[in-house]
Amino acid sequence: MKYLSWLLALPLFGCTVDAPQGADAGAVEVRKSSVSSVTRDTTAPSLTNLAPAIAPTNYDSTRPPIPSYEYLTGKFDPAVHPDFVPVAAEYTDGDPYLLHRETYVAFEKMHAAAKADGVTLTMVSATRNFARQKQIWEAKWNGQRLLEGTQKADVVYPDPADRARAILRYSSMPGTSRHHWGTDIDLNDLENSYFASGTGKKVYDWLTTNGVTYGFCQPYTAKGDGRPNGYEEEKWHWSYVPLAARLTDYAASQLKDADISGFDGAEAAVSIRVLENYVLGINRACR
Ligand SMILES: [Zn+2]
Repeated sequence: MKYLSWLLALPLFGCTVDAPQGADAGAVEVRKSSVSSVTRDTTAPSLTNLAPAIAPTNYDSTRPPIPSYEYLTGKFDPAVHPDFVPVAAEYTDGDPYLLHRETYVAFEKMHAAAKADGVTLTMVSATRNFARQKQIWEAKWNGQRLLEGTQKADVVYPDPADRARAILRYSSMPGTSRHHWGTDIDLNDLENSYFASGTGKKVYDWLTTNGVTYGFCQPYTAKGDGRPNGYEEEKWHWSYVPLAARLTDYAASQLKDADISGFDGAEAAVSIRVLENYVLGINRACR
């Protein structure tokens, strides 16, 4: 099976901070049924080389096309995917990040515009694949990494659904993260309080006013009537909508809670309805 390549791939990137890992993550192990005899052009997939609704199984799994089940669920290595590019150090906190090149082009334009207005946008996380999100999720699930700095989830939440919901306040299940897609970035700080005043407020105000001009949207806005379910608010997390909206639509039609597997705690996906409540529980302006 061609899953082996992503299973073996060591993540070379990802957040190093212990602050909440953006609602950014998730994964599914069961691929969609498809016709295995179909031969597919394995040249670099792109938006102009659209895949069928359900991808065939015999393409190179290091470069799943958009949309496809492997791409959606982060089961590929962005370090070798031909559509991914490294983010220049001048835009980051010093860690290495990768993005889909179309997201990156848009980000560079947005960064320049912000800079001209006296605002510095600093990337503090970008693409994380299934393997990386599995590390983050399982460390929280098994209590090796404390929730919100204080709670061992395995002790405080013995019930799987309760434990999953607690982790899902800020971290995604592997296979269900928008950070799999190369479309989503975390900017400047991973605490909402940073954006409440001073430099952080200036950054957030700039993004909410101008992000849309460059295709960026905040998917995890404040909870309320317009967004009753899903992750808590994340003022740092921004999506490049021209790509991400397509993947959100693909998830709505192809991702099934019962298919989510391959990590500790995956059994909770069905009871908490992770697709409806979390993957699709986003700011409607980002659809
Ligand atoms: Zn994020």
